[in-house]
Amino acid sequence: MTTWLSDLAFIDGRFQTEVSLSADADGLIAAASPDAAPIRLNNRALLPGLVNAHSHAFQRVIRGRTEHRTQNEQDSFWTWREMMYSAATRLSPEDIYDASRMAFLEMVLSGITAVGEFHYLHRAPDGSEYADANLLAKEVIRAAIDVGLRIALLRVAYARSGFELEPNPQQVRFIETDPNTYLRRIDDLRSEYASLAGKVWIGAAPHSVRAVTLSYLKQVCAYAGEHGLPVHMHVAEQPAEVSACIQEYGRSPIALLDTEGLLNERFTAVHAIHVTPKAVRSFAESQAMVCACPSTERNLGDGVVPADLYFDEGVRISLGTDSQAQIDLLEDARELEYHLRLQRMERAVLSPEDDDSQAGLAARLFECATADGARSIGAPGGLLELGRPADFFTVDLNDPSIAGASEDDLLPAIVFGSAKSAVKDVVIGGKQVVSEGRHPDQEEIIARFVQLQGKLWA
Ligand SMILES: [Zn+2]
Repeated sequence: MTTWLSDLAFIDGRFQTEVSLSADADGLIAAASPDAAPIRLNNRALLPGLVNAHSHAFQRVIRGRTEHRTQNEQDSFWTWREMMYSAATRLSPEDIYDASRMAFLEMVLSGITAVGEFHYLHRAPDGSEYADANLLAKEVIRAAIDVGLRIALLRVAYARSGFELEPNPQQVRFIETDPNTYLRRIDDLRSEYASLAGKVWIGAAPHSVRAVTLSYLKQVCAYAGEHGLPVHMHVAEQPAEVSACIQEYGRSPIALLDTEGLLNERFTAVHAIHVTPKAVRSFAESQAMVCACPSTERNLGDGVVPADLYFDEGVRISLGTDSQAQIDLLEDARELEYHLRLQRMERAVLSPEDDDSQAGLAARLFECATADGARSIGAPGGLLELGRPADFFTVDLNDPSIAGASEDDLLPAIVFGSAKSAVKDVVIGGKQVVSEGRHPDQEEIIARFVQLQGKLWA
C-alpha cells in the first residue's frame, strides 16, 4: 500500500487540509492503514485526474502548421481539414506511435489521467488493408500504455464522404464500407484487450451523420447497446453538416438521432454546437452527454457550445483537447465559460443557480474536466473516493500562476488561472507517472517526435 499526504486534497467537492490518500496493490483508493508512512507532498494540492474525452492524437503533428491563410476567399474548418488530411495520409504505423506518444506525454504532464481516443486511421496510405486490420489502433494503444495513460479507444466507423458526395481520395485510410467488417474488428479489439479492462477499453465511434448511413449507424449503436459500450459521434460541429443531414433525412442530426432512438446515457455528442432548444431537451430526456472542445472549436472557427442551455436542462458536458492545437484541459474548462462571456457580454454565465459560493462556477467546470469526462468515456476514475483508481495530479501551491490562493479560492485560481507548469505529480492507478513535472521517458519521446516532424515537413 502507498499513502500520499498533501497540504490540501480536493475530496467531496472541496479542498480539505492534511488528508492522506492511500492506494492498494491494485491501484485503487483504499482506507489508509494507521502505520503507513506517507509520501509527503509539501506545498502541494492534490486533485482527481483530468479526463480528456475527445482526442485525435496524431493531429499533434499539424500544430502550428495550419495557422495561415490557404484560400483567397475564406479559410474554415473545411480548408483546415484538407491540411489535416495531407498529414494523415503520410503517417506510417511507427509514426502514429511516435505522434501519439508525444500527445499522450503532453496530456499526462498537464494532469490528464485518461483519454478517449477517437481513432479513425485504419488502412495503409494507399488504401490497402494492413495484415492486422487493427494495427494502427494498436499502435495508439501501445503509445498510451507506454506513457502510462488510461485509454478508451473509440474505434471510428467511416463509410463515405457524405450524402451525395464522391469518395474523397484523402479519406481512403478511414473507410470501412461494410458495417459487419467494422463490428468484427471492434470485436477483435475488445477480446485482445479484455485482460487490461479499466486501463484499455474499447468504445464505438460512428464518425458523424455525414460519414455513415442511418442503417450503418443503427447497427453500430445496436452492437454498442448489446455490449454496454460508450458511443461517441461528432454532431453538429458545422452548419454545413446540419444542412446536409436535413437534405438527406429531412431532420437535423440530433432530431435524427432522437427519433431513431439512438440517444441514451452511453451516447456522447462531440461538439453539439449548432443545435436548437428542442435538441437540447432531447439530450436531457435521454441522458445523452455532450463533449465540448472549446480550444479546438475556437481554433477552427466552429462556433460556441451553448453550455448555458445544456446546463439549464441538466445535460452533462465533458471536455476534449480534440485537434491538439493546445493540450490543456483546464483551458478548455475555462473557455466553456469565456466564450459565453464574450457572446453575452456578461460574467459568471455558467454559475450554478443553487451555489453562489466563490468556488461554485469553478467546481462545475472542474466536474466537466473530471467526473463527467469519466462518465462519457466509461473510465473508472474522475473522483477521489474509496474503491476508485488512485488517479490524481498535484499542483505546486507556490507556482507563480496560483501562489497566494486560499483554500476557498484555490479551485477558481486553478481552473481560471493555473499554468501547466503548476502540475508536479501525476499518479495513475497508484503508479507515479510524472514526478516534479517530468516524465521518465520525456527526452526520448520528444527526440523521436522531433525526428518525425523533421521527416514529415522537410
Ligand atoms: Zn474530433
